[in-house]
Amino acid sequence: MPRKWRLTDRTRMLLTLELAIILPAASLMAFSIWNLYHMQRDKAIEAAIQRDFTHVLMFAEKRTWLRAGEMLTPVRKEFPPCPNDRSQIKPQLDRVLAAHPEFLFAILYDKDSDVWVWRQQAGHDGDEAFQRRVADEVAITNKWLPFEAPELVHKLQKAAANDEEPFGYEGYWSDHNDEHFYTSIAYFIPPDTPKDRITLGVVGFDPEYLRNTFFPAVITAVLTSKNSALKADANPPAIMIHPTRSTTPWVASPGWDGGRSEMDRPLSEAFQGLAFSIKYSGTTIDEIGAKFLKYNYFILAALSLVMCGGIFLTYRNISREMKLARLKSDFVANVSHELRTPLALIRLYAETLELGRLTAQEKYQEYFRIIREESERLTALINNILDFSRIEAGRKEYEFKETNLAELIRTTLDSYRFQIEQNGFAFEENIAADIPPVNVDREAIARSLLNLVNNALKYSKDQKFIGVSLYRANGSVKLEVQDRGIGIAPAEQDKIFEKFYRCGDPLVHNTKGSGLGLSLVRHIALAHGGNVFVESVPDKGSKFTIALPINPPAHEGGAIA
Ligand code: ADP
Repeated sequence: MPRKWRLTDRTRMLLTLELAIILPAASLMAFSIWNLYHMQRDKAIEAAIQRDFTHVLMFAEKRTWLRAGEMLTPVRKEFPPCPNDRSQIKPQLDRVLAAHPEFLFAILYDKDSDVWVWRQQAGHDGDEAFQRRVADEVAITNKWLPFEAPELVHKLQKAAANDEEPFGYEGYWSDHNDEHFYTSIAYFIPPDTPKDRITLGVVGFDPEYLRNTFFPAVITAVLTSKNSALKADANPPAIMIHPTRSTTPWVASPGWDGGRSEMDRPLSEAFQGLAFSIKYSGTTIDEIGAKFLKYNYFILAALSLVMCGGIFLTYRNISREMKLARLKSDFVANVSHELRTPLALIRLYAETLELGRLTAQEKYQEYFRIIREESERLTALINNILDFSRIEAGRKEYEFKETNLAELIRTTLDSYRFQIEQNGFAFEENIAADIPPVNVDREAIARSLLNLVNNALKYSKDQKFIGVSLYRANGSVKLEVQDRGIGIAPAEQDKIFEKFYRCGDPLVHNTKGSGLGLSLVRHIALAHGGNVFVESVPDKGSKFTIALPINPPAHEGGAIA
């Protein structure tokens, strides 16, 4: 029957564990794994970063455009107005260029009066290559601008009417003597130009200024702006500008460490022919995605481990509690049985005596002896239970007194000797002569001895022998109780000192007992600053040794293990 109970309990516990802990935890884990797996497939992290990068580059383009406008606004204001006095155009263009060294040349075009006047930045008189290049760029502009001027003017007027930036741009790369040059011009309607005139001012940006001053400033402004997409703590993003038809950086932020850019944005308004590129310095989006996944898998693995540990601990605790509960119920059954048997015997023999029908005197003697023995057994059991409950409640107190142990052991055994021999046991008593006085609780030590002797009586079969020795060894006094009984399996030798524990041997099950005796013996030994040990071979016998220090340290016993 107990086995069946155990199975039911176990199944119930496993079910509870499964339902209450494992199921929710496992579903959480499964969900996380599923989530991560899909995240990996959708490249969600990569997509999020790319979205952020798109915003940054849009912001960068807008910033470039605004800055270009800021550069052009004063230039436009200072430009010569619609040409009434032709002689004034050149000096005024020279003044504009002198005030704005960031431009290489300036042109004023007027369709009606057929004006095409251009000036270049002063200070390059001896630089033929420069002059040729500027002349080339002006000539190129001259080829298309007059034809498109009416349309451009119309567009600029419309922009101004809509409160938009009144500037137009053109940008391209060209080769001069195997060198690659970037040309970027801006055009606008000079101030005070009547609506019906086709007049345009044109300025050419100095590419060196763009490259060394203008774009580095734009990039710094973008990278230091409070854009949330730039808050990648470990790996700050880096930005560079390159010609649209090549990936070689033209301008780059300090963190640009080469490699493939994550995202490109060609400039569409001001500075066409150039493109922004962005990436993380020191890593790639793929790497970040992979790292994120790895990190999450790692956390998941760690959490699973913790969860398994938790489940294991819960399982262990519950099993322990269940075992204890089972032991307690066994204990109650055992104790009731143990109380009932001697009481029944006492009543039976007392009733027989009362009837007065016995003839032989020996019979009387025998019945009296049985009644005494059974009441002694009852007393011992009740004492054990009382001691146990006192210890459990933390109320057990020992009265340590200097004691002649040899004498205590001898008198305890004397009152028991008769019973031992009656049971057919050979009894050997070995008490050394040099036992010093030891501070002990007399009653507790006597009870320990009785428990050990009682066990030797109970757990012996054919070889009926009990040996008790008391001797001195290494600063302690040792009390040994030896038998040649059924012995204890090595695996059980530690457990027998636990409360309620009884071995699995069939003889043990058929023998009355509460599983309390040895746990009390150990508690008493520990309270005396000593300990109890067992040496036992199954079917050969057991030897229990209580070691008591001669000079015990101050020690109080705690609860029973
Ligand atoms: P019990 O009331 O069951 O005797 P104890 O705490 O005294 O409780 O002993 C615990 C268990 O240890 C016993 O049930 C028995 O299985 C085992 N045991 C104790 N003493 C002996 C011994 N001398 N020989 C064999 N087994 C023993």
